[in-house]
Amino acid sequence: MGMLEGKNALIFGVANKRSIAWGITEAFLREGATVGLSYAGEVLEKRVFPLAEEAGIDFVEQCDVTSDEQIDTLFAKAKDRFGTLDIVVHAIAYAPGEDLGGRFRDISREGFKTALEISAYSLIPLARQAAEMMPNGGSIMALTYYAAEKVMPRYNVMAIAKSALENIVRYLATDLGPQGIRVNALSPGPIKTLAAAGVPGFRLMLHYAEKIAPLREGVTQEDVGNVAAFLASDGGKMITGETIYIDGGYHVLGLTIPEDELED
Ligand code: NAD
Repeated sequence: MGMLEGKNALIFGVANKRSIAWGITEAFLREGATVGLSYAGEVLEKRVFPLAEEAGIDFVEQCDVTSDEQIDTLFAKAKDRFGTLDIVVHAIAYAPGEDLGGRFRDISREGFKTALEISAYSLIPLARQAAEMMPNGGSIMALTYYAAEKVMPRYNVMAIAKSALENIVRYLATDLGPQGIRVNALSPGPIKTLAAAGVPGFRLMLHYAEKIAPLREGVTQEDVGNVAAFLASDGGKMITGETIYIDGGYHVLGLTIPEDELED
């Protein structure tokens, strides 16, 4: 019997097969969950619909998280379809290209607002609506990155958004904890996806993360999916407000010089 048998999950952020949200979807299906998907906009339909169909997912609904109306409509449809929810995954991030890379001091007011609204604030209305559908408690999780805590080259405005997101996770965990709803952040190392391609120099970050991390291996969508499934399962029932690293141990390092470049 799968770890998530009998549980209903709503997953935000599948853009294509490479999306971390898709890795999580596959793990949830494997563990027996019933999964619904929400995607950002029409341009993604030709990628998301076939993936969902192949996996036997019949709830695939659009929701741009900048619109309260679309969020309301999406959850009304989810209520009709699922009745109650046990798991919600937020795997959403966006920043205008010009505010990633370049000089940190040049981050624009508009870019800041957009990045923070989509990548951080959106977790709040999603969690509020999800909580209404979680009478038996539940597990809400969001995807973050280590740049929230330590400076990463070029991550700029997205780093600020991730710091906000991690703090929102802690406050939501405190707010919703008495209802048995857990809220956590998953923090994977770099993975090649559509969003990652928007970070200038990402290829090099990926290369060094694999070379330097204690486990000397790149993280995959499947790795994230497996941790998400555990966290959503009853096994994770006392974990909340946490940032969980899935990065081969990279975050414990102080000095990040590859072994072969260290001189005696
Ligand atoms: P991705 O491009 O596959 O996913 C990002 C998703 O955000 C897309 O599905 C996109 O449609 C959605 N999105 C953007 N604007 C939206 C809006 N207004 N409304 C609704 N959805 C919107 O890339 P990914 O790497 O799988 O990203 C998923 C999450 O994982 C993001 O939060 C990202 O920051 C985080 N993350 C990624 C990495 C990595 O290296 N890829 C590492 C750590 C954390």
